[in-house]
Amino acid sequence: MPAKILDGKAIAQSIIEELKQEVINLKKQGVVPGLAVILVGENPASKVYVKNKAKACENLGIYSETLLLPESTSQNELLKLIDKLNQDNKIHGILVQLPLPNHLNTQNIMEHILPEKDVDGFHPVNLGKLVMGEALFPPCTPQGIMEILKRTSIKIQGAEAVIVGRSNIVGKPVALMLLQENATVCMCHSKTKNLEEVTRRADILVVAIGRAEMIKASMVKKGAIVIDVGINRLNDKLAGDVDFKEVSKVASEITPVPGGVGPLTIAMLMKNTLKSAKLRNSTVLKI
Ligand code: NDP
Repeated sequence: MPAKILDGKAIAQSIIEELKQEVINLKKQGVVPGLAVILVGENPASKVYVKNKAKACENLGIYSETLLLPESTSQNELLKLIDKLNQDNKIHGILVQLPLPNHLNTQNIMEHILPEKDVDGFHPVNLGKLVMGEALFPPCTPQGIMEILKRTSIKIQGAEAVIVGRSNIVGKPVALMLLQENATVCMCHSKTKNLEEVTRRADILVVAIGRAEMIKASMVKKGAIVIDVGINRLNDKLAGDVDFKEVSKVASEITPVPGGVGPLTIAMLMKNTLKSAKLRNSTVLKI
C-alpha cells in the first residue's frame, strides 16, 4: 500500500484559521501584532520567501513591514536598523531573511535582535532555552515538523527518530524537540558512516540535507514516517531530499515537496509573532 500523504498545506491552513481568531481577540483588546522582515540583497528565492511572509501577515491581520536593503548595506547600517526595530512598540517580531551577503556577520546580526523579538528562534538565548526544554520561540521549521507529527497523531514517545542534517536552523533544533517528546534520537551528517544502516532503524526519519532525492527506498524501514524538509530544484521542478516516488512505496506516511513542511514554516512564524505580542502585553490581556 502506498504511504499516506502528510498534507502540510492543509495542516498549516487549519493553524492559520486558529491564529486568525487569536488575532481578532487580540485586536479587540487593543493589541495589533507586528512583524518586521528584513531582506538584504537580491537573492530571488529570499525575495519569494519575504513576499510570502508579508502575504501571510496580511491574510491574518498582522501589521507587517518589509525592509528591502541593497546588497551593499554595511554591518553597522543593519545593526542600526535592528536597534530601531528593537525599540519600536508596533513591532513584536524581527526576522532577518537568511542567507545574508557574505560581507555581513550573520551571527552578530542575529545576536543583536532582542531575544523577546526573535521570532525565528535563532538568538543564542532562545536556542539555550530550547536546549533546556523551555523554548520561548521554537525555530519555525522544526516547530512545523512537530506540528505535523502531533496533529496527525504520530506516536513520538519511545520512537526511534533519525535526523539527517545537523544545521542550526533545522537538524539540531528538531532533534532537541523530538528528544523533549521522549523519542530516542540519532543525528546523522556528511561524516556519518554507513548512513543507510542508521536511517533504516528510524521509525521517524527527518531529512534536511539539501540534496535532491538523496534518500532512497533502500534507506528507509518499512512502515516508517518520513519527513522531507529539503527544497531543491530538479529538472525545473521542486524536489525534496527524499526520492518521493520510491520511498512512498515503503514508508507508512510521508510529507510531499512542495506542500509538506514548507507551509508550516510560515504558519509557525505567525504563531511566534502572536506569542510575542501576547507576552509583551500579558499584563493587560485577558487571554
Ligand atoms: P545546511 O546546508 O545548513 O545543512 C545540511 C546538512 O546536511 C549538514 O548538516 C550536512 O552535514 C548534511 N549533509 C550534507 N550532505 C550529506 C550527505 N551526503 N549525507 C549526510 N548528511 C549530509 O542545510 P539546511 O538545514 O539549512 O537545509 C536543508 C534543506 O532543507 C535544504 O534543502 C533547504 O532548502 C531546506 N529547508 C527547508 C525549509 C522549509 O521551510 N521547508 C526551511 C529550511 C531549510 P555536515 O554538517 O557534515 O556538513
